[in-house]
Amino acid sequence: MSVVDRQEWDVVVVGAGGAGLRAAIEARERGARTAVICKSLFGKAHTVMAEGGIAAAMANANEHDTWQVHFRDTMRGGKFLNQWRMAELHAREAPERVWELETWGALFDRTKDGRISQRNFGGHEYPRLAHVGDRTGLELIRTLQQKIVALQQEDFQETGDYESRLKVFQECTVTRILKDTASDGGSAADRVSGVFAYDRETGRFFVLQAPAVVLATGGIGKSFKVTSNSWEYTGDGHALALLAGAPLLNMEFVQFHPTGMVWPPSVKGILVTESVRGDGGVLRNSEGKRFMFDYIPEVFKEKYAESEEEADRWYEDPDHNRRPPELLPRDEVARAINAEVKAGRGSPHGGVFLDVSTRMPAEVVRRRLPSMYHQFKELADVDITAEAMEVGPTCHYVMGGIAVDSDTAAARGVPGLYAAGEVAGGMHGSNRLGGNSLSDLLVFGRRAGRHAAQYARALAHRRPPVDDAQVGAASAEALRPFSAGAEGEAGPPENPYTLHQELQQAMNDLVGIIRREGEMEQALHKLAELRVRAGRAGVEGHRQFNPGWHLALDLRNMLLVSECVARAALERTESRGGHTREDHPRMDRAWRNVNLLCTLADPAGGLAATDPARGQIRLTRETTEPIRPDLLALFEKEELVKYLAEEELYE
Ligand code: FAD
Repeated sequence: MSVVDRQEWDVVVVGAGGAGLRAAIEARERGARTAVICKSLFGKAHTVMAEGGIAAAMANANEHDTWQVHFRDTMRGGKFLNQWRMAELHAREAPERVWELETWGALFDRTKDGRISQRNFGGHEYPRLAHVGDRTGLELIRTLQQKIVALQQEDFQETGDYESRLKVFQECTVTRILKDTASDGGSAADRVSGVFAYDRETGRFFVLQAPAVVLATGGIGKSFKVTSNSWEYTGDGHALALLAGAPLLNMEFVQFHPTGMVWPPSVKGILVTESVRGDGGVLRNSEGKRFMFDYIPEVFKEKYAESEEEADRWYEDPDHNRRPPELLPRDEVARAINAEVKAGRGSPHGGVFLDVSTRMPAEVVRRRLPSMYHQFKELADVDITAEAMEVGPTCHYVMGGIAVDSDTAAARGVPGLYAAGEVAGGMHGSNRLGGNSLSDLLVFGRRAGRHAAQYARALAHRRPPVDDAQVGAASAEALRPFSAGAEGEAGPPENPYTLHQELQQAMNDLVGIIRREGEMEQALHKLAELRVRAGRAGVEGHRQFNPGWHLALDLRNMLLVSECVARAALERTESRGGHTREDHPRMDRAWRNVNLLCTLADPAGGLAATDPARGQIRLTRETTEPIRPDLLALFEKEELVKYLAEEELYE
């Protein structure tokens, strides 16, 4: 067994995207010695890819915008399944978080009179997305990194060590949350004591001891074949929480963004930002028809234009016209594109056409959408100022995630564990509005950092000890791929890349944008088979930068999370937001107040279950907390009738 280095910190933040960095800044500012650990290079987190902007009701572009309108839009977008208190905190606090970024050095695009410019996005009643061209995530990460460096410089002045209170461990992967399971005054404590991790470059294992851990690891997209997500989105934080005993909430809700590239095959799935539609781009089928007018659902009928003329007038005069249907929430647009392609009205490579070339001058396209212009020019040899793009749905975001307390971001059931950003569930209900993720990262990253620091401070003199047996078990688990296929194994070693491809194909085909009961059952059988085979995922060579080994370890997480998605999707017999059942095509009011929670079937951490009917995951239902009356009063009764069950309305 290798020697495992140990270090002591107050708070460990897993993930250096927007949520992780905002949490780390807050924890350090509140006096906690804070370590940030990330799988990729520092600054290369997924957040950097965010394009369109940060949603915040700053009322710069339309004076009628308020946090209440933002709250309403978010609840509508999530089809009222949102953890409403999170949606409230998010809408109230987002403007302050954007301002704060400017005080730390961010520079957003401006209106003519010098205010932060805000652009339109799907589902937002007013122009609300603060942006930096179509490279907003880059500015956000750059600013947070700069703030971290500034804090490290302060620490150097005081202690002579830049990393005395805030240290980043880059290219390191956490594989287990460690817990103190000893009893505390008679009752089992079962609280966080640190994390087990490996350095990707050297392969060395190490432990960061800490009473509080914030998970900010992002999403799960790499379990699907066509995705806008980058390599690091393997659902690690979701799986780490499950393995530590925290439930995952509503994992059936996976967002398929309507517009990903469909051609050439090597770039299939790469995102085409919603700003293209927000700035005037329109969707057409192979017959040249602007088809979205045929797909406005009943619940949104009053808010969207019925003719092209009205839709086009809206861009100039939004107060007297209704929005174009291209700006419906993402789930609606993705389903419409899917239906057009299925009906044989798709583009040559299986998508539809998204056109800005006939909508604005070439110079404006290049200025407002510089990344999109280069993306299509360089990757597909398409000049978007002169011709239409071909686009189709791509797996983009997971609304499901770790069940957290709305105010503190504490993960349910595991003292000392916190979660923020895409890995946390609840905030977006069944469907996220564009721009609401970057604001979510800042609002709840800050809250998670604050509460983690407070919790750690309270345990300063009785820090939970690290259990050597757990460290030994985590080391053995991580080393297993090197001995796959050894004598006594049930079969030959399996190639982790083959397993990953089969998993992605199964999730894409069987638990994708349109779901059917029989296919999801098939998916669960396939996942059970893959799980057995993944137990034999084998690699050659050594531990120094070995990507096959890294993938073999990530497979455990993707399989756990995929089973959560498939099992919950099978259970929810309705269509709502990011979950569409062909066999249950309508939203059912009886499901409005039902949360589905996933926990490990064997809480002792056994991952060997092979019975597909049982699998590794146990599913339970819970009733959501009633929405606070003053928040309900923000909606017209006629609208609530469409979503809420009879008894909820009565109450
Ligand atoms: P991330 O930014 O992904 O960070 C995750 C971090 O966790 C990384 O540092 C990673 O290395 C680390 N990590 C993961 N697993 C481990 C592990 N096991 N051990 C250690 N570290 C680990 N949202 C908007 O609001 N507006 C937009 O305009 C927008 N545009 C988008 C464009 C694209 C192309 C994509 C893909 C998404 C977009 N989104 C947008 C969504 C948004 O970018 C993400 O939801 C958000 O950035 C997630 O941030 P995060 O902090 O939760 O995670």
